[in-house]
Amino acid sequence: MTPKVIAIDGPSGSGKSTVAKSLAQELNLTYLDTGAMFRAIALVLNEAGIEASADDTIEEFLGKMQFDYGRDENLVYINQENLTEKIREHSVSKLASIYSQNKKVRSYLKELQRKIASERESVLEGRDIGTVIFPDASLKIYLTATSEVRAKRRYLELLEKGESFSLEKIMADIEKRDFEDKNREIAPLKKAKDAIQIDSDKPTIEEIVKQISILYSKVKVS
Ligand code: C5P
Repeated sequence: MTPKVIAIDGPSGSGKSTVAKSLAQELNLTYLDTGAMFRAIALVLNEAGIEASADDTIEEFLGKMQFDYGRDENLVYINQENLTEKIREHSVSKLASIYSQNKKVRSYLKELQRKIASERESVLEGRDIGTVIFPDASLKIYLTATSEVRAKRRYLELLEKGESFSLEKIMADIEKRDFEDKNREIAPLKKAKDAIQIDSDKPTIEEIVKQISILYSKVKVS
């Protein structure tokens, strides 16, 4: 049986994580931050000196790797190392975008994400949830916002964590990452045909969460 899943896709800074986390809390769902998974794998592959094009080496590395998602209040451990904080650094965003183009990385995470979400009702957020991971999701949302608003959100988030870059740099990096995520060969970011698009520029997080909860309550009974 297909598990009940809410799929939220969209570009960086569109509010996916905040909305998904809040929905998970409110509706008691398992929360999967798939971007965090890509970030963690990109970080360890890069630290191991493995090129993003080295399919065979990547496959071997992933085969031996121990990946723990959501073990405790932390999000990601690889080989017992807690990477939850480190993966949020600005430099890791770019690495994630590069390594996420690799088909071995994508198929490893696809299997893991489907396995976790098959155990409980879940909300997943990422770039390919409604198109590739769960094309049969109960509800698909495509969250957007202008690049100005998204850059400002990232800028403030990074500042709060002690990383200071100019708003111009953040905006240029976000636009480059959007371009790469939308134009890659495998699982590019795009709105699924049957996804509902929500613009997060103006409404508050609470309003968006409420809107999605109502939509979900309708699909759940149908
Ligand atoms: O969402 P977040 O900014 O943490 O994602 C980091 C990067 O990981 C994205 O820019 C994208 O390249 C990749 N990603 C992906 N597929 C997902 C989630 C993230 O390719 N489902």
